[in-house]
Amino acid sequence: MSVEEPFPNYHKQAKYLTKAKKDSEFLRSANAQVLQQTLRTLDRAWDDMKARGFGIPRFKNKYRMRSFVFPQLGKNPISKDAIKLPGLKSVKWRMSRSIPDNFVAKQARIVRKASGYFVMLLVKLDVNVPTPMPHGHPRGLDLGFDKFVSSSDGEEIKRPKFLKTLQRKLKLLQRRLRNKQKGSNNRHKLNQKIARLYQRISDTRKDWHFKLAHHLCSDAGMIFVEDINFVTWQRGMLSKQSADAGFGQFVNILHWVCWKTDTYFAKVNKDGTSQTCPNCGAHTGKKSLDVRVHHCNECGYTTTRDVAAAQEIRNRGVTR
Ligand SMILES: [Zn+2]
Repeated sequence: MSVEEPFPNYHKQAKYLTKAKKDSEFLRSANAQVLQQTLRTLDRAWDDMKARGFGIPRFKNKYRMRSFVFPQLGKNPISKDAIKLPGLKSVKWRMSRSIPDNFVAKQARIVRKASGYFVMLLVKLDVNVPTPMPHGHPRGLDLGFDKFVSSSDGEEIKRPKFLKTLQRKLKLLQRRLRNKQKGSNNRHKLNQKIARLYQRISDTRKDWHFKLAHHLCSDAGMIFVEDINFVTWQRGMLSKQSADAGFGQFVNILHWVCWKTDTYFAKVNKDGTSQTCPNCGAHTGKKSLDVRVHHCNECGYTTTRDVAAAQEIRNRGVTR
């Protein structure tokens, strides 16, 4: 590839790939569609970098390259103890969750985790599933750094200590990595240890997100959250704390749990939720981040900043 071309597009790369395969047994051994998907991922990363100010894509060595996708599967690829993957024939597996009736497997993503290889299936159902209708008790939620979630009913939930402890442990190990020589056995071992801990953190966090989502849905008929682009938000000035908070994942899980529990779910416009009094609707002006209390001079309503924001989100949800 010539240096005059810093960002060859997908189609050029695909052409280079065809050429490279002629000389490389290693490349030929992989499924063609899988390789193309990897190029598409890179192409998207470059686009995001240029259009949205994301960082330069990192080279994925064998520790970082954690997954790849089969964008298409053959006919009836799944049986109880094996999955047919293009180019790999039948691979033995343990099906951890059964596929619901009438769903068809469309794509398979192979993910390497510290505890082994996993298959994530994208399944599709060709039937319309009714979404829950607005009904019952409305609950607005404000997500933030100080409290993970504040609800319009006055509940404030902090991020759990156990996640913070694990996160600190991870930082420690990552720091130790700097003293290990590249390619050494010790470094390899430490890398594996880091991968296992990373996995544990993400499992623990996900589990907590599910429990929290169920808790928040338990006695509500409607859930409203701010319509925030969490990716951009997390790249803001507070990115360090929010990176491990996983707001985006939580909202996805919340949406899913709402659907499962027949709770209506909607996102509302986020603009100025902290500038309006949820009690009387008066404009209370911009609060700087260090102001943690909402006090309205019009009606005298006083509560915490985050609960006031959650109540304003609820108000916007029910009057939409
Ligand atoms: Zn007021």
